[in-house]
Amino acid sequence: MSRESHAPLQLELPPEVIDRLRLRAEATGVRIEQLAEEALRRELADGRRHNTVYVSAPVNALLEGIYQEDTTVGAIRQRGDFGLGTFNQLDGEMVVLDGRVFQLKSDGRAYAVDDEERTPFACVTFFSADSSERIERPLDYAGLNDLLPRMLPSLNMLYAIRIQGHFDYVRTRSVPRQESYRPLVEVAREQPEFEFHDLRGTLAGFWTPEFMSQITVPGYHLHFLTDALDSGGHLLECRTCDVEIAIQHVPSLELGLPVTLDYLTAEFTRNAEEDLEEAER
Ligand SMILES: [Zn+2]
Repeated sequence: MSRESHAPLQLELPPEVIDRLRLRAEATGVRIEQLAEEALRRELADGRRHNTVYVSAPVNALLEGIYQEDTTVGAIRQRGDFGLGTFNQLDGEMVVLDGRVFQLKSDGRAYAVDDEERTPFACVTFFSADSSERIERPLDYAGLNDLLPRMLPSLNMLYAIRIQGHFDYVRTRSVPRQESYRPLVEVAREQPEFEFHDLRGTLAGFWTPEFMSQITVPGYHLHFLTDALDSGGHLLECRTCDVEIAIQHVPSLELGLPVTLDYLTAEFTRNAEEDLEEAER
């Protein structure tokens, strides 16, 4: 590539970054400018490079009542523009759509979220559909559960699933703010539920193979957000009218391991699978 086609950009970088650039340049014989250009290209590249599901912490920690971690929403947005999760103190359901993060609180309303907010569990990817299908006939949640596996080439893979359009009925729940150490399964027993009729919205979430159940929620896990961006929640039941189902195959998983004292000293010896089944269904 000719240098003439380049434009100048002046940057101020921390000394340790400059030191590492220098060391790399010395070790490889590649100019610092070129190293910086390549690093930027890699970071900014869209598409397949980002084809990873990022889980910020094992879901097991959430099941044991560890509701406070240091992962910021800003850090989550760097790992994906699509997905779901919750917030510190279990303060509502998270939905991430087109890079925007919403908090669906226990009053049923959706709130915009600052990058400084924190999450004990989030699961995101950069969404880019590999296949999509328009479904104009009514489908209830059971019907959807029948149809979706036929759109997934193998149930041993991770899939991001985006279902957008007109819904006849949607029932969701949102978790109420909690103190830590109260097991999720207890909290989930008193979660407020919400019903929506005849409206447009989006379901965002994932298919996760059963064998990953210690890491993230297995099976289908979907969160709903209205097109008006004003309410939603964790999906419990729905009936579609006319929706577009878009699927992304995700061949890899990146798992964050928190370094909070709570996490580091927790004992994950209990088999929490039954709790997960009850809390997330
Ligand atoms: Zn959920």
